[in-house]
Amino acid sequence: MSEKVNALLRYASTAPSQEQISKIKNVLCQKFDTTDIELEVKLDESIGGGFIVSCGNFEYDWSDAGRVRQLRAELENLKHVSGANDTNKIISMFSEKVENFSLSLEDREVGTVVWVGDGIANVDGIEHAFYGEIIEFEDGTKGMAQDIRKDHIGCILFGNDTGIRQGTKAVRTYKEAGIPVGEAFIGRVIDALGAPIDGLGSIKESGYRPVEQPAPGIIERQSVNEPMETGILSIDTMFPIGRGQRELIIGDRQTGKTSIALDTIINQKGKNVICIYVAIGQKASTVAKIVQTLKNNGAMDYSIVVSSTAADMAPLQYIAPYSGAAMAEYFMYQGKDVLIVYDDLSKHAVAYRALSLLLERSPGREAYPGDVFYLHSRLLERASKLSSELGGGSITALPIIETLAGDVSAYIPTNVISITDGQIFLESDLFFEGMRPAVNVGLSVSRVGSAAQTKAMKKAAGSIRVDLAQYREMAVFTQFSSDLDETTKNQLAHGNVLMELLKQPLEHPLAMHEQVIILVASGAKRLDMLPIKQVKDYKQKLLNYFNTEQTEICEELEKSGDLSDQLRKRIIEAVDTFNDIENKKLKNEVEEMQKQKV
Ligand code: ATP
Ligand code: MG
Repeated sequence: MSEKVNALLRYASTAPSQEQISKIKNVLCQKFDTTDIELEVKLDESIGGGFIVSCGNFEYDWSDAGRVRQLRAELENLKHVSGANDTNKIISMFSEKVENFSLSLEDREVGTVVWVGDGIANVDGIEHAFYGEIIEFEDGTKGMAQDIRKDHIGCILFGNDTGIRQGTKAVRTYKEAGIPVGEAFIGRVIDALGAPIDGLGSIKESGYRPVEQPAPGIIERQSVNEPMETGILSIDTMFPIGRGQRELIIGDRQTGKTSIALDTIINQKGKNVICIYVAIGQKASTVAKIVQTLKNNGAMDYSIVVSSTAADMAPLQYIAPYSGAAMAEYFMYQGKDVLIVYDDLSKHAVAYRALSLLLERSPGREAYPGDVFYLHSRLLERASKLSSELGGGSITALPIIETLAGDVSAYIPTNVISITDGQIFLESDLFFEGMRPAVNVGLSVSRVGSAAQTKAMKKAAGSIRVDLAQYREMAVFTQFSSDLDETTKNQLAHGNVLMELLKQPLEHPLAMHEQVIILVASGAKRLDMLPIKQVKDYKQKLLNYFNTEQTEICEELEKSGDLSDQLRKRIIEAVDTFNDIENKKLKNEVEEMQKQKV
């Protein structure tokens, strides 16, 4: 004997005929696998016309309101059909749709809100929703099923919750959360759901991509083999990053983390890389400043900014990096190279913690839920270098993590360190000493990038890391001794100059050939005699000289990407010539001054 099922039929004006009722009963019997249906018939003018049948959590909508909704959805789909710019075509498409419109029997699973607040709604009655499914509320607000329990589901809301209260209806959409993607997004600032927030009008999307997407598998990838130049001397020489790599930028607050990411974006000009900057939980004013910096440097021409500010609700902050990744994947699967910056994942973890605690998940270490590792691993694993068969596109990820008092062993920092292929560790002490960027050479590492470094850079960089490490030790050791032997003195002088050379102002990325020239010159000890204060000036003048007088060398370096012994010799000779010219100039100046004195 099958169970008895109760159903309710609401109609607006005319009651359904006996025949209609028996048909409906048949449909319900099949759906619920029963023979015993009790159908209550009730008048309800609010539905406009037609009728709605509700049975358990399901609703069959034959009402006028439902008809309008379905037709609207069909017309909405027309937007994505090609040729939708031609007025005549639009009219014919519309009339065709309207004429051929047939109301499909819509069966929707409906629930009611039992609790709402802080961007979370608990919905009772939806039993079959899947994780990540979009749930639509009566007032049009959308949410995402995030917590599936026995008796209710927890939804995070992507809009204001003021229109939702206890008892509000919520329906399943059977769709995964996704965002619009496309070329038209380049140069724009969007929110976590892909809507423009820069006041420059709507964006024509080329498609949709789910926000959560499994990362490419092993077979679909190839190893990192192309450099992603940051233009920052201390990073490109010692901790090179390759296209498809994940390199963490980690450090205390105000140590120049964002600056490194921005300089890297600025350095991608003319390199055919699309850059995506995802701001998570930052001040809106900070994001505005970043956009301005990018604009001033012409970097917005190839960049997209995804912004979820501190004022946005936790669900939006939580989803922003995944939206950014979806956008990046759209370009990667077209064979393009993408650089994506997540600024920063500490705030992302905090947003997720808030959301999880509100969903009443049990807190774990530092009150983060147990799956916080998976939160970042599934995001960063999406960065990859695709195999040649798949077009060879890549996503290089630069996640940023903020530490407290340099503590890299806290929960979130250790997690992300273990997920990424290396980290650039920025230190407050170095920053305040004036060493900017404040890269700590001892604690930073890049585990895969050297395979992608250009030969020229590899040869030029040589032993710079060891030299610096030796210098550091010796500097501490000899701090208080006054008479030093010649070799030690030389080593100290060389180290001092190296440290000075690694200082780099903001928004001044160096091209590969410039970096190589600096390294070759300093490697040949041509700079060691300089007083420290003059190093910066000298570096600038030397580069100017090469870029104007020695263009052949620069071009050869950029073209071949290699540094032959012969080329190295030519560079050193050119440096010597430059030194002679400078010395002569200086001599003349001194003579001039002496003459004036006399
Ligand atoms: P927050 O923790 O607030 O996000 P952050 O670590 O991202 O800070 P930035 O905002 O990049 O740090 O930089 C902090 C300050 O240091 C800025 O005022 C910036 O101008 C300055 N700064 C960063 N790098 C350099 C540099 N190489 N040369 C000079 N100034 C720098
Ligand atoms: Mg920052």
